[in-house]
Amino acid sequence: MANIIAIVGRPNVGKSTLYNRLTESRRAIVDDYSGVTRDRHYGQGEWIGKKFAVVDTGGYVHGSEDVFEAAIREQVLIAIEEASVILFMVDVTTGITDLDDAIADVLRRSKKPVFVVVNKVDHPLLQQEASIFYSFGLGEIYPLSSMTGSGTGELLDEVVTHFEHEEEEEDERPKFAIVGRPNVGKSSLTNALIGKDRNIVTPVAGTTRDSIRIHYNQYGHDFILIDTAGLRRKTKVKENIEFYSVMRTIKALEESDVVILMLDATEGIEAQDINIFHLAEKNKKGIVILVNKWDLIEKNQKTTKVFEELIREKIAPFTDVPIVFTSVTEKQRIFKAVEAAAAVYKNKTKKVPTSKLNDVMLPIIENYPPPATKGKYIKIKYVTQIAGKSPMFAFFCNLPQYIKEPYRRFIENKLRENFDFEGVPVQVYFRQK
Ligand code: GDP
Ligand code: GDP
Repeated sequence: MANIIAIVGRPNVGKSTLYNRLTESRRAIVDDYSGVTRDRHYGQGEWIGKKFAVVDTGGYVHGSEDVFEAAIREQVLIAIEEASVILFMVDVTTGITDLDDAIADVLRRSKKPVFVVVNKVDHPLLQQEASIFYSFGLGEIYPLSSMTGSGTGELLDEVVTHFEHEEEEEDERPKFAIVGRPNVGKSSLTNALIGKDRNIVTPVAGTTRDSIRIHYNQYGHDFILIDTAGLRRKTKVKENIEFYSVMRTIKALEESDVVILMLDATEGIEAQDINIFHLAEKNKKGIVILVNKWDLIEKNQKTTKVFEELIREKIAPFTDVPIVFTSVTEKQRIFKAVEAAAAVYKNKTKKVPTSKLNDVMLPIIENYPPPATKGKYIKIKYVTQIAGKSPMFAFFCNLPQYIKEPYRRFIENKLRENFDFEGVPVQVYFRQK
């Protein structure tokens, strides 16, 4: 179940500073991948073992003063609909402004939990001043300093108690989510798959009120499609379209096993696509990339290959992902896309028998052992797959602390070469034996 925290508030109160703090442990990893992730507005955080997604609503709305308030009000409405918890951030150094009041008005009607977060309380002396924000009538206030981090723990302790409990999925079928930026062809694909024959479509009551699940059962495939496009809110403000789409995407992604990331061939892979890709990867989801509207591209023999290489470069280092070139309108390779998603799901749930794993991997390790560190030799004795929702492997050895990232990657690649984990994040651990 997706737990999404949305940070709302007027500009400059410190939303992105708090966002960075809540996602910081993971951000460092993401920033290694590519330069484009810096301006992202959503990411993952974790508190006392509970994972959540954080969305910073700042940055989606630009524009002139007069459209601004309307845009923010609408954004807050979207956040109320889509998030699990709302953090309403205000600034102790400025007190209550008109825009703060306008946002508070919208939030008072929220049925979702709202936390009044009073930021920039960098010093205990400012605690007293924070109390004016009780006048919103939104309940308890949470004074903190996003800059120093003080007070964030107290906030999170309370926030996580409002998360939905991890329910056991009652439906065992694979869940595929079609995600991507607006207009890439997501609804067209859903329609093409379920066709005109509504008999093959059984809407499944979702565990979440507003995610649409479609049961697909034909041509030997049986899965649930999680639809992000079907239920579309009408946004009056253009800038909020992206915000809304991001909220829907995070939710669908978290509920799915395999993410079908759809791109528009005429636009290529953009920063937002790469963000979704990394989010899926970090969530240990299976991934298939569809390059749609392929009919609009002028082609020669090299076009596909060049396109593919460009995408793999951008998604590195996790490049072992199927890429399918589709035209939904021309009905080209739609079924291949379904097959690819099904294959990825199979890879994700694959269990390699321990004997086979050792028979294959130990000779490889024998031939290319981890390099000795500080004169110490590292001996890997055996390997086993750990039970879990995605493939995890434990390699038992004498000195796991001396094994470096390049060797871990080498091992991961060998696992991929020998057992086929295409489209699936694979975790490799070295443990003390
Ligand atoms: P946003 O527009 O709401 O995302 O706000 P930012 O996160 O960009 O922050 C606006 C300004 O407030 C920046 O100059 C931050 O450095 C500053 N700021 C953010 N949090 C704190 C804080 O806890 N204390 C102080 N003193 N400044 C802060
Ligand atoms: P969504 O916002 O991602 O759900 O995108 P839609 O399915 O609504 O499609 C947006 C537009 O792209 C529509 O006009 C579609 O007819 C068009 N479209 C979708 N797939 C293709 C395709 O493969 N080729 C071309 N040329 N147009 C497409």
